Amino acid sequence: MNETATVSFEQLAYSQAAQAFLDREPRLFINNAWTASSHDATIAVEDPSSGRIVSRVVDASDRDVDRAVAAARAAFDDGRWSGLAPMARERTMNRLADLIEAHADLFAELEAIDNGKPKGMAGAVDIPGAISQIRFMAGWASKVAGETTAPYTLPAGKVFSYTVKEPVGVCAQIVPWNFPLLMACLKIAPALAAGCTIVLKPAEQTSITALKLADLVAEAGFPAGVVNIITGNGHTAGDRMVKHPDVDKIAFTGSTEIGKLINRNATATMKRVTLELGGKSPVVVMPDVDVASVAAGAAGAIFFNSGQVCIAGSRLFAHKSIFDEVIEGVAQASAFWAPRPSLDPAGHTGPLVSREQFDRVMGYIEAGKRDGASVAVGGDAPAADGYYVNPTVLVDVNPQMSVVREEIFGPVVVAQRFEDLDEVASMANDTCFGLGAGVWTRDLATMHKLAARIKAGTVWGNCHAMIDTALPFGGYKQSGSGREQGRQGINAYLETKSVIIQL
Ligand code: ADP
Repeated sequence: MNETATVSFEQLAYSQAAQAFLDREPRLFINNAWTASSHDATIAVEDPSSGRIVSRVVDASDRDVDRAVAAARAAFDDGRWSGLAPMARERTMNRLADLIEAHADLFAELEAIDNGKPKGMAGAVDIPGAISQIRFMAGWASKVAGETTAPYTLPAGKVFSYTVKEPVGVCAQIVPWNFPLLMACLKIAPALAAGCTIVLKPAEQTSITALKLADLVAEAGFPAGVVNIITGNGHTAGDRMVKHPDVDKIAFTGSTEIGKLINRNATATMKRVTLELGGKSPVVVMPDVDVASVAAGAAGAIFFNSGQVCIAGSRLFAHKSIFDEVIEGVAQASAFWAPRPSLDPAGHTGPLVSREQFDRVMGYIEAGKRDGASVAVGGDAPAADGYYVNPTVLVDVNPQMSVVREEIFGPVVVAQRFEDLDEVASMANDTCFGLGAGVWTRDLATMHKLAARIKAGTVWGNCHAMIDTALPFGGYKQSGSGREQGRQGINAYLETKSVIIQL
């Protein structure tokens, strides 16, 4: 990675539209209006490509959270959203999707500035992903239905019984910083289709695109109070949302540690909880593959988004007969993923999101080295003001090392050899996580055997991290509970009521 010494890490100039958005006063979006906080506290918005503070957002107070929840509660209780014709809900959601599409370039730039991901990646992945979440779920607004059910123990013809699906109520939705707009839309879309109302809180590191989304919520025609968007810290504003008695459901994506805390805190009021948490996803490379193309795939599995992906392929298992070749291929492919400032059109990855994340990832790399791991490529950071970490491959690792056991959430993969299918199945499952897994083989029987053996919410064959809105997404084990996307995604926002009428 010595070549990085000659690369400029100077961030490029922002567009006027992006600058104008960043220059806005810190405000909260409650009841379809921009409103000041009850106190003066704000959170700095940092461009991780330069380390510069470029804006400020509100650090919501308890009173701010209470106001947002009250708005969502009133909007739910009077049925101004759930009582609309499903077609009207669907059309409003589709208008929001159209408006995001119309502002796609600005969204991509703001995401790049705030999160550090390349604008090109945000434009190719995050923004279209956000739009498709809304469009897919909009269609469900008109397809949610209960069923008539013949009774079993009650006399036929003497009772009429059926089930109804009803929206769960006020939803507090808390999202992380790795795909800010995409996660926000993935959360709001099924809730809106179901007829729920929302208080959404983006991560304190990346609030900007959620605020831009708020502009469009009013324009799309959602009734006031249906979507409220507040910014603030997790342990204060987020905690208040989780414990609030007027909130019916929590949907959270983030770390396993905070997910467990939220799960505990939500119990007192028996809120419905969906959790999408951490991972340490295996990538299994069988000996029958074309090594060059699989190595490029394995590199993409970990280095895309600088490894700040819950389904990142962070544990690479290559058959012993091709291990060295695979490692060499991944090392070569890592050049494609060398970090650049987020507005540099040549970049495929950017810096990590924050100083804190940079320190955490570099700390893991150092711990790995201390524990005896060898660096096959990377293992260092370019000299720059932003939070850049070079793509890193660690070999000579063992299952006890923290780099093998814990989620690093950075561009760091640990590689291990295996002998046969049984061994790799048990190595892949030797983790408390179970979010995703990639299997690379040309042999269909091997593919299906491993797909069945690996305990993960999603298994990819000859690809990694392919996400489609129609397919449920979520974790086994400590990677979470519940499923998002697909039909299961909307079910998470519905209660089922049984009605039994004696005739
Ligand atoms: P990370 O460790 O990757 O920064 P977190 O799990 O801490 O991710 O944060 C994800 C989201 O959870 C953010 O929106 C953050 O503000 C929120 N959050 C953090 N702590 C809490 C908490 N105690 N209660 C509710 N939300 C929280």
